Amino acid sequence: FEEVQSFDPELALAMEKEIGRQNSHIELIASENFVSKAVMAAMGSPLTNKYAEGYPGKRYYGGCEFVDIAEDLARDRAMKLFGCTYANVQPHSGAQANMAVFFALVKPGDTVMGMNLAHGGHLTHGSPVNMSGSYYNIVPYGVNDEGFIDYDEVERIAKECQPKLIVAGASAYARKIDFKRFREIADMVGAFLMVDMAHIAGLIAAGLHESPIPYAHVTTTTTHKTLRGPRGGMILASEEFNEEYKLNKAVFPGIQGGPLMHVIAAKAVCFKEALDPSFKVYAQNVIDNAQALANGLISRGFNIVSGGTDNHLMLVDLQNKGVTGKETEKLLDAANITCNKNTVPNDPASPFVTSGIRLGTAAVTTRGMNTADMDVIADAIAMLINDVNANKEKAMGMVKTLTDKYPLY
Ligand code: PLP
Repeated sequence: FEEVQSFDPELALAMEKEIGRQNSHIELIASENFVSKAVMAAMGSPLTNKYAEGYPGKRYYGGCEFVDIAEDLARDRAMKLFGCTYANVQPHSGAQANMAVFFALVKPGDTVMGMNLAHGGHLTHGSPVNMSGSYYNIVPYGVNDEGFIDYDEVERIAKECQPKLIVAGASAYARKIDFKRFREIADMVGAFLMVDMAHIAGLIAAGLHESPIPYAHVTTTTTHKTLRGPRGGMILASEEFNEEYKLNKAVFPGIQGGPLMHVIAAKAVCFKEALDPSFKVYAQNVIDNAQALANGLISRGFNIVSGGTDNHLMLVDLQNKGVTGKETEKLLDAANITCNKNTVPNDPASPFVTSGIRLGTAAVTTRGMNTADMDVIADAIAMLINDVNANKEKAMGMVKTLTDKYPLY
């Protein structure tokens, strides 16, 4: 950081402010986390200098003998962590991992089923504004009136539209996902099942959510959410599936050039951390905190979609509070609580306004916060939404007490 400060004070100021913001705010964005210093050190290392197109032992550049070790460590640890025989750690992001799988398994125009974005799915599962929604015939599925995935409806839609690929996984779904049922449905119609476990990868690594590995033909993930690694993506499958459907080729040269070797090194560190027994304790605390936060909000008159959470996140439906998601995101931010507006199922408001917010506990748990702290956060949120003018100072004081108690880095 000192080097940036002396060479580029303008940028250093922005970085300093962002570090200060992370320290002084309560981070409730469900897709974010705080990486360890070891993960950060690997990311900020000279491995960024190396071109390594290809895969360990089969590169298109010389001098790859040491980055090969880093990539092998990352792959071996990923396979051990998730119990599979194939891992590709090169996708630059979750979106790239998903794009590579689409590239490998389906052709433009093929029918693909994905969870509706408005019901908690991800852009890359078939939104019209994404490549997936533009190049493939997307048939969405969603949740029922109680906010749970309607598996009978998924089966009905699959039988009707005969997809080539079914995508399971979500960005804003608080309940356990039944991967076995998804595979049964995929088998009924002869489709591939891709599970995108990006949000819950850390919980799966810790054994606290059923693993998709025994059921999915192919599993994708990000490495930076509950898994608490560097920003990036990964693809998991069996080696036989990779050989038959050429997943490696779909990543490189299919959709990417040179891999980010510094990020792959940081993924190796992340997987080592996740293999440590302490990670299981962390992941359990994430779930306990999410349930405490949900209960704290419910006891203060808030509606949580599906009535609670099994994982690290929840969707708060604000319709009974007379505020939109957009307004709420802004008023919480004014008191140093960061979250994002989110549509709720059957939302009457537009995606830019929304009737809900999404809250997650992966980041606050990394800071060390516990279930009692979650009740304080629920109280601060309720005070702000009920009367921001009257309660802003007090809520900010509550936030400051917490962020001072659990400093970052
Ligand atoms: N898949 C899911 C389920 C996600 O929630 C996200 C990101 O939020 C992604 C994929 C995309 O990941 P990235 O932002 O790394 O491209």
